[in-house]
Amino acid sequence: EREAALAGDTEPGATRDGRAVQLLANIGTPADAVRAVAAHAEGVGLFRTEVLFLDATEAPSEEAQSAAYRDAVEALGGRKLVVRTLDAGADKPLAFATQPDEENPALGVRGFRLTRILPELVQTQLDALGTVADESVWAMAPMIATPAEARDFASRAREAGIGTVGVMVEVPAAALRAEAILREVDFVSLGTNDLAQYTMATDRLRGELADLLDLWQPAVLELVRSTAQAGRRLDKPVGVCGESASDPLMALVLVGLGITSLSMSPGALPAVRFAVRQHTVAQCEAIALAALSQDEAGAAREAALALVNADV
Ligand code: PEP
Ligand code: MG
Repeated sequence: EREAALAGDTEPGATRDGRAVQLLANIGTPADAVRAVAAHAEGVGLFRTEVLFLDATEAPSEEAQSAAYRDAVEALGGRKLVVRTLDAGADKPLAFATQPDEENPALGVRGFRLTRILPELVQTQLDALGTVADESVWAMAPMIATPAEARDFASRAREAGIGTVGVMVEVPAAALRAEAILREVDFVSLGTNDLAQYTMATDRLRGELADLLDLWQPAVLELVRSTAQAGRRLDKPVGVCGESASDPLMALVLVGLGITSLSMSPGALPAVRFAVRQHTVAQCEAIALAALSQDEAGAAREAALALVNADV
């Protein structure tokens, strides 16, 4: 019965009592956008544009970029497309953008910080996006730490002709000052992979530290909560596009914390859609509270699971 429900439910995401929770896909290429539509995503919540250029030795031209973005827009047929500007550096080295001499690349010139040394790289990308952007296309900057950075990105993106502009919240400083950041932009999206890395001071590539990097760490959940609350105060969307959104149990916690959209690998959509559909907002809030009341990641997950199983 569960299988049938999983396969047959292609409706937009919503809780049992009807609160919309947009279910979106993470993509790295225009071909992924085709797969996202086939998986009944309501759109794309994270287009990791650096994936297009992983093998490039020179900065991509505006024309090459416009073509790729246009393909993605066309594949989505009017569905929302959140394009993240190049997140080069650290775990995503790009030959034409990475600084070779950084001792701590995860703390170095990555993401939006590239505008400090290669402003034309970011400008070309925004110009390329501006040429194809209609109202379905949103632009988003990675690795924002301060409201001033958010303001800087917003003005560059708006000048390029992009109507809806946001930033990722994946640095704890941004989560702690989310309301000030949200005053500068139209939306934010939590990157829980990096948010966990920076909150727990744990390299996301080191498997032996996986327990610290656990997305159920209450400290990480706390930052998700305060960011979501800032969004509710200003009535602006706060999504999640990190791996947290792919976990059906965590998705309930995120909905309970007030997250408005979940973006994930397309394969995760059916199970997350099903889980959200089975629960009311009040149930999600109770599940979130139970998780946040714990001191350890494992206990947080267990507490959430216990409530789901008790069907409260
Ligand atoms: C994240 O950090 O959670 C995120 C979505 O971005 P990426 O994994 O590409 O760094
Ligand atoms: Mg990230």
